[in-house]
Amino acid sequence: SVEASIPEPQREAWTKNEFEGFKNKDEFEKEVVRHVETTLARSMFNCDETAAYAAASLAFRDRLVKEWNKTQQRQTFTDTKRVYYLSLEFLMGRAFDNAMLNVGAKSIAKEGLEELGFRIEDIIGQEHDAALGNGGLGRLAACFLDSMASLNFPAWGYGLRYRYGIFKQEIIDGYQVEVPDYWLDFNPWEFPRHDVTVNIQFYGHVRKSQDENGKTIAHWEGGEDVTAVAYDVPIPGYDTPSTNNMRLWSSKAASGEFDFQKFNNGEYESSVADQQRAETISAVLYPNDNLDRGKELRLKQQYFWVAASLYDIVRRFKKTKRAWSEFPDQVAIQLNDTHPTLAIVELQRILIDVEGLEWDEAWNIVTATFGYTNHTVLPEALEKWPVGLVQHLLPRHLQIIYDINLFFLQAVEKKYPGDRDMLSRVSIIEESQTKMVRMAYLAVVGSHKVNGVAELHSDLIQTTIFKDFVTIFGADKFTNVTNGITPRRWLHQANPRLSELIAKKTGGYGFLKDLTLLNKIENFVDDKEFRKEWAEIKYANKVRLANYIKSTMDITVNPEALFDIQVKRIHEYKRQQLNIFGVIYRYLKLKQMSPEERKKQLPRVSIFGGKAAPGYWMAKQIIHLVNNVGAVVNKDPEIGDLLKVIFLEDYNVSKAEIITPASDLSEHISTAGTEASGTSNMKFVLNGGLIIGTCDGANIEITREIGQENIFLFGTLSEDVEDLRHSHNYGQHSVGAGLTEVFNAIQSGTFGDTNDFGAMISAVRDHGDYYLVSDDFQSYIDTQKMVDDEYRNQEGWITKTIRSVARMGFFSSDRCINEYAEGIWNVEPLAV
Ligand code: PLP
Repeated sequence: SVEASIPEPQREAWTKNEFEGFKNKDEFEKEVVRHVETTLARSMFNCDETAAYAAASLAFRDRLVKEWNKTQQRQTFTDTKRVYYLSLEFLMGRAFDNAMLNVGAKSIAKEGLEELGFRIEDIIGQEHDAALGNGGLGRLAACFLDSMASLNFPAWGYGLRYRYGIFKQEIIDGYQVEVPDYWLDFNPWEFPRHDVTVNIQFYGHVRKSQDENGKTIAHWEGGEDVTAVAYDVPIPGYDTPSTNNMRLWSSKAASGEFDFQKFNNGEYESSVADQQRAETISAVLYPNDNLDRGKELRLKQQYFWVAASLYDIVRRFKKTKRAWSEFPDQVAIQLNDTHPTLAIVELQRILIDVEGLEWDEAWNIVTATFGYTNHTVLPEALEKWPVGLVQHLLPRHLQIIYDINLFFLQAVEKKYPGDRDMLSRVSIIEESQTKMVRMAYLAVVGSHKVNGVAELHSDLIQTTIFKDFVTIFGADKFTNVTNGITPRRWLHQANPRLSELIAKKTGGYGFLKDLTLLNKIENFVDDKEFRKEWAEIKYANKVRLANYIKSTMDITVNPEALFDIQVKRIHEYKRQQLNIFGVIYRYLKLKQMSPEERKKQLPRVSIFGGKAAPGYWMAKQIIHLVNNVGAVVNKDPEIGDLLKVIFLEDYNVSKAEIITPASDLSEHISTAGTEASGTSNMKFVLNGGLIIGTCDGANIEITREIGQENIFLFGTLSEDVEDLRHSHNYGQHSVGAGLTEVFNAIQSGTFGDTNDFGAMISAVRDHGDYYLVSDDFQSYIDTQKMVDDEYRNQEGWITKTIRSVARMGFFSSDRCINEYAEGIWNVEPLAV
């Protein structure tokens, strides 16, 4: 603030003493040693890799902080419009390697660390992933932060600082076991801002009064307060000084450590209990992917986070002394899924109850400010909150929700008089046995733009869940922004040799900022030397993964084999069960062959990885089956290298960076119409792997970009899914000969305990096969056979992978951010 700024005459002393950060190797080493000796209070006689990681990170952090401060000052002084990306999840992974690459000083660090006695890979390996997310949605938010900083957009991420991120997965006796992820022991990348706090109110009641003009004023009173404390994380852009901010809120008791009143009265336990109850709000990330469980604590998390964020945003706006009508010219807020939808209600509350604006004026500001990104059409994932719960926790917000709904329905009635079905279909309040607030509808009504995340998905939301809203608001309100990924992390960082080869052929690293420049490598598709190097890099990446598998699981896999990988959250709609049934089928066929015939077969390593939500029993059974199949197949002497089945423990971002570059084939085989986009599909292709996939999510656009000759598509189309489901339930449903053979093998005990897998088989055979595993099984097997045949022709395969990489430019998250900026946020980058 102005009061805290140093008077003009004294500023020279500041400028003169400005901290510069290291500029070369020697200065870097000096900074590392300084941090070891002073910040960590250690010395060369007790500096292990953990300490070296800490000191090296702090040296980089110091440099980042400089640019971070400057970026924030620049944004404040130019008084420019900012973007606020509200996401309950940011799946960041590791920060150190990313910081080195984005700042452009990795080689300095590598040499410096070497001189100090450390290998940079070992130091990078010390960092604990920041795993504040479940999967695709959280990783998308992380890629977007990278792109917004790299493109110089004035943008902040707002989230929650969970004490426990997504649990760590251990596999014990073939079963998933969850272990808490306590990641905050040492985290040099966050800055606690104990001076940036907000008190957040819960419960209580609403009192109404009249002002001198007879206007009704609502007062939300009573209840309890919890304090939100800001923790800031610098987000460095690539090849630019722009360093943005991610602000994560942590909860603590509003009275501080303890309620001293209670403490003094001898109520020790109750005083500690209050404190713990407050801290519980930001304690854990809910571990469900694409599932809404409706827990009260989750709603508390949501309000805590959006209320703190909006307070912060409004405070920043008010410092500009502008009129409220200019709020949407200064502020764009993007809602990553419906989790932050209460922000719409909270801003309306602030404007009418606190700032005294009229309803309509406030509502125009609100709707012009928000954009909403939908991430799913799966009914079990669509958020709904019981009216009673909202009433109890946020009494004033429920009133506002009712008013929003009333005015909305009045407008609908005016436009479609007498259409009562329409009114009940689109009402934000679902008039069910337990009345529910439909958060997606509230998000649509309260935003000026609604987008899906791939073309098929954006079309689907407009014809299914939001069909009536398209009629009411017009199609212009709905748009598509196909997801993307940051090439900095997912090519340059994860696959440095490939990145270097591409740089050599395209005239430098410009492709990392304009990914469409990748198309230049297609000119080298017939270049012998280039192809040789291309193949060598893939092989080296497979060897790296093979070594990782050997060291963590003590299983030897042959890097010459085809590496077939499916890593993502375990979910019935993602159909890992289809994959493992296919693997079993392959095993049975190999067993039935003569030894001569077997010798002609192509060796394959089937790799699975991913976490199941702790309460998702069926997903856990799928993990169990994969492990049991592996236990049998991997030690079958008749099979040897022809088939290995691997379940990689604890899939996360840093492991994805090892796994993704090592695939020949990756699987994206969701039932058509269920996967909104997928982003790992893009990562695998960008790293020179091919896809076996369904016509779902972004697979469709990937096909359009890279050519259908370069992807293995199979299975039911989304337009046929409903009819097939219907026929399963009301017609004859047989699962076919191949799958029957697989089920018989499982049920005969070939893979251990038959009881465990009965439900998985029944879901397909007896209970309607909702995910169409049986319908797609044969075409999946046939397509896998085609994969084998194509892979035998290595030259043809290499050509496909080169052409695919060359054509992946569209899937950069930079392209996404530019589309959001132009079509939804109306913001410009800020020149540096
Ligand atoms: N989990 C992690 C750790 C990831 O890195 C990603 C994306 O790369 C995902 C999940 C999302 O994967 P998918 O798009 O296959 O669902």
